[in-house]
Amino acid sequence: MNQTVQSVRGMNDVLPAEAEFWEFFEERVRLWAKAYGYRPIRLPIVEPTSLFKRAIGEVTDIVEKEMYSFEDSLNGEKLSLRPEGTAGCARAVLQHHLAAQRPQRLYYLGPMFRHERPQKGRYRQFNQIGVESFGFAGPDIDAEQILMSARLWDDLGLDGIELQINSLGQPEERARYRAELVDYFEKHADSLDEEAKRRLHTNPLRILDSKNPAMREMLSESPRLLDHLGAESVAHFEGVQQVLSDVGVAYTINPRLVRGLDYYNLTVFEWLTDRLGAQATVCAGGRYDGLVGQLGGKPMPACGFAIGVERLTALVQESDGVPTAPQTDVYLVYQGDAANAIAPRVAESLRDQGISVLFNCGGGSFKSQMKKADASGALYAVIIGDDEARDDEVTLKPLRDDGREPQKRVSIDGVADEIVKYFLDEDDFDGCL
Ligand code: ATP
Ligand code: MG
Repeated sequence: MNQTVQSVRGMNDVLPAEAEFWEFFEERVRLWAKAYGYRPIRLPIVEPTSLFKRAIGEVTDIVEKEMYSFEDSLNGEKLSLRPEGTAGCARAVLQHHLAAQRPQRLYYLGPMFRHERPQKGRYRQFNQIGVESFGFAGPDIDAEQILMSARLWDDLGLDGIELQINSLGQPEERARYRAELVDYFEKHADSLDEEAKRRLHTNPLRILDSKNPAMREMLSESPRLLDHLGAESVAHFEGVQQVLSDVGVAYTINPRLVRGLDYYNLTVFEWLTDRLGAQATVCAGGRYDGLVGQLGGKPMPACGFAIGVERLTALVQESDGVPTAPQTDVYLVYQGDAANAIAPRVAESLRDQGISVLFNCGGGSFKSQMKKADASGALYAVIIGDDEARDDEVTLKPLRDDGREPQKRVSIDGVADEIVKYFLDEDDFDGCL
């Protein structure tokens, strides 16, 4: 019995090559959010289970069968790993009166947890970028968030992601529609699958979201919520579309687009791709004016969306948008007592000047250290032997420029300048000068 311990199914390690790409991606995301004036918020991963029951709704896939819930054995609290971020974000806004003075634009990035069947693009721990606004009622902010998501695809060099939008109207409008929809489904009871039958009296709108091809035709003939909207809801929806047209963002109205969570009203949208198999939705969101009230606060208009990071990064990697791995600038090779005594200080002084340094650990002959330097991908070896150390110098050896530049001795104080001079002609310097 000597089995190694494995990670939990559907919860993946992100190994260095991929993690480097994630860092690049996260930096882009932060700049992108800032360009729209959205500020970061960091939220707990564990929340009271009751938060999600109230916010997402008891009769939803997430709460019914996907949540990791448990009782804290130390104090009996009922807790859940967050399956999404909006509920926690709304809770925090309410708890800290964040939007009491002025509306808020917020974003976060982090892991979410859902007990689903793992497959490509669907995991049990996955990451979302969440963007939320609180306190804005008009269609301008809905449109802003759609434009914002469109820009991220551009920033990442992605095309072919299709935008679908719909309006879910207001709760009263939905209630009238719901009655008509249940009528329709009851008339077509023999076309309903088991799941749909179960949903019929608890959450019939969710039936519209079914991916079962056998129900497609029956669903395409079903009554449309858009036909039940009052003048105000229609005007709101048109307001969103107007901005999209003004800016030139293409969209399709999908009258059967409903979202899997109960808190949405008015605008809903999804960005879809056909390049990830069945896992087509890269980004989804909409307006949720009822949520803060549902959590016990004064009603407050709100709107947001979430991007599935694994699905998005899979698309970026597939479309060649992956940047080359950031390289270390210098590998520091040293041997001998005098060299040992100054090597760490030389490395630190290079780092002081924005140059990244891989410090040779574990000793070894010059030859074996040079092998490691070559294999490291660094651009330069900085070599210190006792000779160099005695003269307060190092040998600077380019590792990857096909002999264009010979190795040379330079003074310790002058190494950084020498390297920077070289990088200025190379434009692949990724230090922080
Ligand atoms: P789906 O219909 O694919 O199950 P959803 O409606 O449950 O998606 P949301 O709750 O709207 O998804 O989450 C927003 C985004 O998060 C999704 O569009 C998707 O990109 C991503 N996402 C959701 N669940 C997972 C998961 N289990 N693994 C990876 N990404 C996910
Ligand atoms: Mg889902």
